[in-house]
Amino acid sequence: MDRIAAIEQLAARQFDLLVVGGGIIGAGIAEAATAHGLDVALVDRGDFASATSSGSSKLIHGGLRYLQMGDIGLVREAHQERRYLMNVVAPHLVERLPFLFPLYADGPHRPIVVRTGVLLYSTLARARLNGRISEQRALRLVPQLRTERLHSSALYADARTNDGRLTIENVVAAAERGAVALNYATVTAIRPDGADVHVDGHDVAVRASMIVNATGPWLDHLRRLEDPAAAPSIRLSKGVHVVVDGGGDWGAAVTIPQSKVRVSFAIPWEGMLLLGTTDTLHEGEPDDARVTDEDVRMILDEAAGAIDGIGAVRASFLGLRVLPGGPGATANARRETVYTRGPTGMLSVAGGKLTTYRRIALDALDQLGVRNMNRAPRPLPGAVGLARVDWPLELDAPTRSHLLHLYGSRAADVVRPALDDPSLLEPLVPGRPDLRAQDEWARTRELAVRDEDVIRRRTTGWLAGSLGSDHGSKIDAADPAARS
Ligand SMILES: Cc1cc2nc3c(=O)[nH]c(=O)nc-3n(C[C@H](O)[C@H](O)[C@H](O)COP(=O)(O)OP(=O)(O)OC[C@H]3O[C@@H](n4cnc5c(N)ncnc54)[C@H](O)[C@@H]3O)c2cc1C
Repeated sequence: MDRIAAIEQLAARQFDLLVVGGGIIGAGIAEAATAHGLDVALVDRGDFASATSSGSSKLIHGGLRYLQMGDIGLVREAHQERRYLMNVVAPHLVERLPFLFPLYADGPHRPIVVRTGVLLYSTLARARLNGRISEQRALRLVPQLRTERLHSSALYADARTNDGRLTIENVVAAAERGAVALNYATVTAIRPDGADVHVDGHDVAVRASMIVNATGPWLDHLRRLEDPAAAPSIRLSKGVHVVVDGGGDWGAAVTIPQSKVRVSFAIPWEGMLLLGTTDTLHEGEPDDARVTDEDVRMILDEAAGAIDGIGAVRASFLGLRVLPGGPGATANARRETVYTRGPTGMLSVAGGKLTTYRRIALDALDQLGVRNMNRAPRPLPGAVGLARVDWPLELDAPTRSHLLHLYGSRAADVVRPALDDPSLLEPLVPGRPDLRAQDEWARTRELAVRDEDVIRRRTTGWLAGSLGSDHGSKIDAADPAARS
């Protein structure tokens, strides 16, 4: 369905469910709702995945931190979801990754505490990878590991993903089952029988029996459209990441302890190194959040505690964590999901993790009264047939593996148009493995509207350094003077 047809459908159909917000939570709800036969509309004021869901740490993880907070149930549930995502839902997008936990003589943790924690975590994960490893093995996994004052290292397993693409694949799955999915479509009013949506200069009255508010950091804005007197229900915490050169020869990520309750990460990701994150209360409007030089400096300084010779900064980005309201430091706040119903029946979904999006989506549908649900994991587009992709033309091994990772078994379809137009095999941007064929695929099959939608969320073009930063910092990790 093209965009004009989608806008017509948005106005014409009576929907069972309108999902407001196309981050991972809204996209996951739309995917699950269409799989259960509901007629769904999904709208986002920006691009799908343009907010928190492309600004995460990209981890599909049980959360070692939650164990420390005594939340064993949350860790067990997250591990189970990780297994579903890795094995069934998106094996191409969710990859197992070892994590090295270095323990320095001057670090915040007693080694025995960490080793016991890692053992319990690995037992909950049903993983064999755990426990203490030698310095030589640690260096083989992470060649840039700082060994000065290194007491010992523990190893455990989690997984990484491409959060933007995971979200887009959920949107595509819903759209392929008949959902009307529109980005750059803003909900401006909530009524008992639907909502008003402003899209491409038109105000469309959408009729829907049920509405889900999955607007993440904007949750209270939407609640106030339904009930102007609605009290604030969430707080926001800003988390910044930077992407630096390096990581290509790393076999593990590094979990860097910063305090008794906080860790930061250095994660080999899409051929680069992802460093972060920060955790600071954000009291303004979500749209006003910015990456500051101070954020970047802090991330580089914290990473330098465990990593030698950090490469040049290529990009930075931020995400806003939604924390159910309440007192206390943001690093201690529990990341659980809270469901609330407004006076006209709109269901607001606050908080949660990328890792558990599938379960959150099912729980949201349960809250809406959808019964007899199939809670078993379902493959996303491209997730089946990974072992026997029939490439229509010759491609080098790194390009094939990049495309397989992003598109799964649909990778062959992405490049097929290049049989007629070989220029589609040219690089999308210099210095990255993405091809021009991906631009065409993104616009025709993945609802991309603007160049940024293609570069930033459907491919990895932005990692070349253009369009990559949410601020204008010139801080360079390779320049120690800039960090002091
Ligand atoms: C720094 C950071 C690191 C994280 N790391 C991890 C991690 O490693 N692993 C993990 O499991 N989780 C992680 N999380 C959590 C995870 O990223 C979030 O829980 C998840 O992305 C939230 O998705 P969402 O759909 O609720 O919100 P969002 O992705 O923010 O989506 C909300 C959408 O609503 C849209 N919207 C707002 N108002 C309107 C309107 N009026 N009309 C239409 N649309 C509207 C917005 O444009 C936006 O796209 C992290 C979070 C942060 C901030």
